[in-house]
Amino acid sequence: MYILSVVNAIRYISTNRQRPGGDPAAVSFAEALERGLAPDGGLYLPERLPRLTPDDLERLRGASYAEIADYVLWPFVEDCGIGRAAFRSLCADAYDFEVPLEAYEEGVWLLRLDRGPTASFKDFAARWMARMMAALRPPGRRRTVLVATSGDTGSAVGEAFRGLEGFRVFLLYPAAEVSRIQKFQLDHIGDNVTALSVDGTFDLCQSLVKEAFLDPRLAGHGLTSANSINIGRILPQAVYYVYAWLRTARAGEPVTFSVPSGNFGNSFGCELARRMGLPVARLILAVNANDEFPRFLATGRYEPLSPSRACLSNAMNVGNPSNLARYFDWYGGRLTREGRVERAPDLDAMRARLESVSVDDAATVERIRRAWHERGVLLEPHGAVGVEALERAGRGREVAICLETAHPAKFPEVMERELGFAPLQPPSFERLGGRTAAVEPLAPDYEALHRRLAREP
Ligand SMILES: *Cc1c(COP(=O)(O)O)cnc(C)c1O
Repeated sequence: MYILSVVNAIRYISTNRQRPGGDPAAVSFAEALERGLAPDGGLYLPERLPRLTPDDLERLRGASYAEIADYVLWPFVEDCGIGRAAFRSLCADAYDFEVPLEAYEEGVWLLRLDRGPTASFKDFAARWMARMMAALRPPGRRRTVLVATSGDTGSAVGEAFRGLEGFRVFLLYPAAEVSRIQKFQLDHIGDNVTALSVDGTFDLCQSLVKEAFLDPRLAGHGLTSANSINIGRILPQAVYYVYAWLRTARAGEPVTFSVPSGNFGNSFGCELARRMGLPVARLILAVNANDEFPRFLATGRYEPLSPSRACLSNAMNVGNPSNLARYFDWYGGRLTREGRVERAPDLDAMRARLESVSVDDAATVERIRRAWHERGVLLEPHGAVGVEALERAGRGREVAICLETAHPAKFPEVMERELGFAPLQPPSFERLGGRTAAVEPLAPDYEALHRRLAREP
């Protein structure tokens, strides 16, 4: 049995494997998780996918979110040494909050992914990945997680690692560039998580983190980045598509998903679930004014936007989505991290299976207003882009599911301006008030960061 499972285990390969100098070696899940980026600079992808047959799906009817996660994700990690029962409780521990589906209108559902501790969908991936990293940490080896953040990612990752033994976490954020609520979330995680408020820009925070990874003096600290390109952040994002389908569709019935998108990690979870066998009729990548991908689908020319355009849905202000390289790979193309097309993908296949719609700020706030006044549904800017994109792409006859990726209370200024009131805070925010702040100022130079990391704890 043991030998059999190892032979059949899913391995992970780099999107750069066929490049001159690329690394063709396939690695285990544990290795891909630990490395984040492949040594050749590419992103990891599973070499093959487990099948979700119609029978499998029917057997999952009525299962809880955690049970679905356990079923869907186990084949991706089965060789990494975690026991079957331990993995099941890991999923139960990661997904201990509700995942509501709310009716938007006849045949259209909102999947609210905002009930985790930081009220954005990033909790789903961060909580699973942190627990996997903890389960796979060699005994006695301490880890330091270092994240540069301009908002949602940092607090989701920080909360996910909070209290996990053997980890200390530093979140670097640009003091003047995060919102009041984001700052409050980042500063109030505490325990083994320290926020470092940097007197500088987000770009500076990123380059400080990069320098730390290259600093041989820190080699003993087990530095690790929990960044969004890690395969451990992608796999768990396939689960909520399966969950939403099970709750809204009949056996074999294809549904449409509209996904508010920035770096395309969330929507790639849908592509993954579809390739495993989930009946997905259409996948709509809803973007804000950063329209490089819809323009690519229309013209076949990929022109990343630099700098990216500032929109209300600020977590989607991305001019060159990092996960686009994964899409290119699966459609037979190759894209560098800088956004250069080295091999064109099969554009016809892409157009047949992916739609993308750009929604500007004016249309976003109009959708927020109409959803509230016509239907009594609260949308925040990211979710509104998703709903508006579905409308523009044309509803079709299938059931449609729009993802709501954040809680409206995270955007009090926009909501107040457009609707005249600020939404009630989710319960997870109230917990923050009872904690003491764990934030330190950090001077904008690398030696200051090095001194902080070298110090205990
Ligand atoms: C990160 C984020 C997105 C974009 O998700 P991607 O996986 O980068 O496409 C959308 N909405 C919210 C609220 C986010 O935090």
